[in-house]
Amino acid sequence: MKSNEFVSLLNKFNNFAILPHVFPDGDTLGSSFAICEILKSLGKSAYIVLDDEIPYNLKPLLKEKVYSLDEFVNGNIEFEAVIAVDSSDIERLGERKILFEGKTSICIDHHITNTGYCDFNFVDGYSSSTGEVLFELVFDDYSQIDSTTASYIYMAILTDTGSFKYSSTSPKTLDIAAALYRAGIDFENINIEIYQNITIEKFKFTNLILNSLELYNDNKLAFVFINNDILKRNGLSMEDTDGIIEMIRNISDVELAVFAREVDDEIFKISLRSKRYYDVSELSLKFGGGGHKRAAGFTLIGDINEVRKTVLDEIKM
Ligand code: 5GP
Ligand code: MN
Repeated sequence: MKSNEFVSLLNKFNNFAILPHVFPDGDTLGSSFAICEILKSLGKSAYIVLDDEIPYNLKPLLKEKVYSLDEFVNGNIEFEAVIAVDSSDIERLGERKILFEGKTSICIDHHITNTGYCDFNFVDGYSSSTGEVLFELVFDDYSQIDSTTASYIYMAILTDTGSFKYSSTSPKTLDIAAALYRAGIDFENINIEIYQNITIEKFKFTNLILNSLELYNDNKLAFVFINNDILKRNGLSMEDTDGIIEMIRNISDVELAVFAREVDDEIFKISLRSKRYYDVSELSLKFGGGGHKRAAGFTLIGDINEVRKTVLDEIKM
């Protein structure tokens, strides 16, 4: 393990609460579980605290107890520090931000829009993923990393780079992935669990969302949406819609893809993806969200027609 400011900071405390962001993805979960392993190897106690549902394809790969906020608070579990993982602002932690009170806060992240809301912020906006930031902070080379921690970091990097396809992937990203592979991860199984594991219900449902496709600006701008009642009627949740926006971006003419998902009555989670030049993090910031140049998001209140108009009116391309 390296000796630097991050590792020395971890060594100052004994008990940690680890906080992935709301609507958790592979990067925030893989990185959080990896931090948990790293802390345990340093002889610390670490608790992952999360209320949201974990995507079904990631669940079998994540082998550590997850505490709900209630369970954690009511259990009177001692902790001196909180670690916010892959979250560019404190609102990404939802209600769990109350755990910051009176504690030392540490952030590990890779969003250029990070607001620096913790006491200690380890943010690299040029890294592909929080998993990559974590690897660089903690490990010198692959010989020091155990296969469990390596698998978690691999999950983080794999999912946030779209399997090493996105422009955020650098030679360094691939070097780290190679190091993780050498550390003895179950390469084939991780890939099958994450990607070749779509339920029949989700597979059929994807078609319904794809059919909502609207195209604007000479097909450069694509818009798709899904209403909450349809999700519920089909027994599906937000996580079942993961990956769909990337399919929309795959259309040859499309530069910017917008996906509006109604997560609660008239509350829409907007996901944005771009291909070559459109900066979606700038657009997201205008609506109080955040993210990266090619992937970003925010929340909007209103019915689908209002939400569509609000977003499309703001897009110049
Ligand atoms: P997704 O569309 O997959 O939910 O998110 C894409 C990227 O945008 C991720 O890096 C995510 O962290 C960021 N993002 C999505 N929604 C929000 C939001 O409401 N606030 C902020 N700050 N970032 C978001
Ligand atoms: Mn990330």
